[in-house]
Amino acid sequence: MRFNKIISFMLIGIDDTDSPDGMCTTYLGALVADELKRTGFMVKNLRLVRLNPNVIWKTRGNAAICIETEGGNPDEAFKIARGFVERFAKFDCEKTNPGVVVVESPPNPAFYYQALQKFCTIEETVARLENIGALYQGYKNRRGLIGALAAVSSVLPDKTYECLAYRKPEACGTPRIFNPEGFFSSEEKTTPHTWDTVDFIRREIVCIPHGKDPVLYGIRGESSEWVKKAAGYVQTEEPAFSIVWETNQGTDAHLLPIPEGDLIEGESYRFSGMVESAPVTERGGHVHFPIFANGKTIQVFAFEPTKQFRNAVRELVSGDEITVCGSYMKGVLHLEKFRVNMLAEPESRSSPQCPECGGRMTSAGKGKGYKCRECSARVREVEVCRRDIAEGWYEVPPGSRRHLAKPVIRIIE
Ligand code: ATP
Repeated sequence: MRFNKIISFMLIGIDDTDSPDGMCTTYLGALVADELKRTGFMVKNLRLVRLNPNVIWKTRGNAAICIETEGGNPDEAFKIARGFVERFAKFDCEKTNPGVVVVESPPNPAFYYQALQKFCTIEETVARLENIGALYQGYKNRRGLIGALAAVSSVLPDKTYECLAYRKPEACGTPRIFNPEGFFSSEEKTTPHTWDTVDFIRREIVCIPHGKDPVLYGIRGESSEWVKKAAGYVQTEEPAFSIVWETNQGTDAHLLPIPEGDLIEGESYRFSGMVESAPVTERGGHVHFPIFANGKTIQVFAFEPTKQFRNAVRELVSGDEITVCGSYMKGVLHLEKFRVNMLAEPESRSSPQCPECGGRMTSAGKGKGYKCRECSARVREVEVCRRDIAEGWYEVPPGSRRHLAKPVIRIIE
């Protein structure tokens, strides 16, 4: 029986409280943490984990949070967390199904990895919660228990930080007020220790959301000190408060090795293979090519929203050896980044234009030069161009990056 139990360690997990119309689980978590502090708990750590980016139930970035405390009573912490969820969660939204979990020791991280890289059911989550003797409360269809248990089970062998600034309640739903220059100088002064504040090439700010949620901006970086320093350079409306979260963002924690059998819908992978034929650009701007890896051919897509990234993809030719990272959805790999390991040929021989009629020429046979398809003129010499791609990583622009994807700036080889 539990009564007035004081323990030294506790993890509180919360998920699925928001809707496209407002709220944010990190904001609600910050309010809970504040109340816990106010009532005598010691808040030791705040963690924001992103889970499988391919789940269909997510509102935005499939985030869940975990608050680590010392001192205090688990029943009291559970009551506080439930109270805030019941007051602030967007229950009207069909997709909002909150979950709250309190545990007194870290559960097996296997569940976190399953929620991060694969899929979980509500039934197996409840069975685990029963098994470990957790305090838990699921609302509506209780799906939020999955994220809440995953958050308290999480381990971060690699981690990054995000300084999230929140808006005053009365400002939510109105346009965010800020000076764009502050964000550009913030990243200039703190790169490579921070990333994804702005996109310098497209001159866009990427760390400010556009919706009605309470987030004013989020600055990501390698340490709590760096993200706080970067936040010091921005100029915005007065935030209500800001908090630094420890996160699994930017770590590639969602990526699995290629399986022996078929790729599985909704999983994300990193694997090496050979480009089978040159990329093709579809009418909508999507670029795709087949890669041969582990005995199978997989279609790889760089979709239109990945913008200038597609130019690098278009440079690939048959025979290039590359490593790809991305999610397998609807039967194709959605490319997040790729590494050129070895170019099939460092130079490309483009078929020349006919000097007589301007038509396209095709090879006239090995060592015989080129012959015009239109007027049959022949040339011996072919222009040799250096390829516009070299060994190394190529990634989507900051505005198209998924939360879990590791930016190339963080890759140490
Ligand atoms: P926000 O980022 O704004 O907080 P969100 O994108 O995190 O919103 P949620 O509202 O948390 O989205 O919805 C995601 C739902 O999917 C949650 O109920 C969560 O428990 C569940 N979920 C997360 N990962 C998995 C998984 N691997 N398998 C099944 N369900 C999952």
